[in-house]
Amino acid sequence: MEKQNKNLISKENGGIFCSHGDFWIDPARPVKRALITHAHFDHVSFGCEEYICSPETSVLLKERVGKKIKVKSYGYDESFKINGIKISFYPSGHILGSSQIKLLGGNEKWLITGDFKRQVDETCLNYQEVKTDFLICESTFALPIFNWDSTNKIVNQIVEWVNKSPHMTSILFCYSLGKAQRLLNELKNKNIKNIYVHSNIKKINDIYIDQGINLEDVAKINSGIKDFKGSLLLMPPSQNKFNLLKRFGDYQTAFASGWMLIRALKNRSGYDKGFAISDHADWNGLIKTIKNSEAKKIFLDHGDGETLAKYLSIEENIEIESFQTKQ
Ligand SMILES: [Zn+2]
Ligand SMILES: [Zn+2]
Repeated sequence: MEKQNKNLISKENGGIFCSHGDFWIDPARPVKRALITHAHFDHVSFGCEEYICSPETSVLLKERVGKKIKVKSYGYDESFKINGIKISFYPSGHILGSSQIKLLGGNEKWLITGDFKRQVDETCLNYQEVKTDFLICESTFALPIFNWDSTNKIVNQIVEWVNKSPHMTSILFCYSLGKAQRLLNELKNKNIKNIYVHSNIKKINDIYIDQGINLEDVAKINSGIKDFKGSLLLMPPSQNKFNLLKRFGDYQTAFASGWMLIRALKNRSGYDKGFAISDHADWNGLIKTIKNSEAKKIFLDHGDGETLAKYLSIEENIEIESFQTKQ
């Protein structure tokens, strides 16, 4: 029995595999059955036979992966079974539809956080604390330097950055799914002349609005507007090319990402400015989540968790396990 339990979840080919249930979670390659925590491309493989996720994620997947994919969706707390493994989704607070996944098999209880954040974000449901025995916790920002300022403080800095240069076009780069909508929601009652978005962001905005999220319906950049002076433009990072931007005349650029807390990265990034706003948990958020889960076995996923593992061992007497990885 002990041996069987240890094998309920393993890490293989860059994804999380449940051999007893014969399904994957956020696989990196096409598989038969994929449970998806959320619709960011580093968590979704194209070409899976079947996707299983929250209803909001299913809408986003159809837009991003293809209308014809086979998707089954389950709401939060609506548990279901695959090959005897009981599965339920809980909000992870990362982006619209993002879910933690809880698995019950034999006498083992597992929780896979997926990407999550602990800050409030009106464009998705807040992170829900869930108790578990085995925890797989993302650890993208697992260094003590990562402590997020309040969202409002960062957003006010963005407003100030735009309004200080009324004769320039201010271009803020951010991820099209999640970050852009969170920023737009936070900017809705702020004093900025005009906000325009790239067509990729506009597409996602429409889905958010359709799903009942409170977003202002801002215009696309390519809609015959000639004068962008004093306006704020939101664009995906892939558009940060001089050839694409020169038509905006005098412009300044910035990037909205948690990585902007690292000065060296900020300087090397080539943006005029960085705003450290993240959709992931910071150092304290990770520690709080791990402690409150009451997990007996903890695995860190995504990013280098060595510093966090050391801290938890010394300060909290919590040991981090390593995955049995099969390639
Ligand atoms: Zn993500
Ligand atoms: Zn991710």
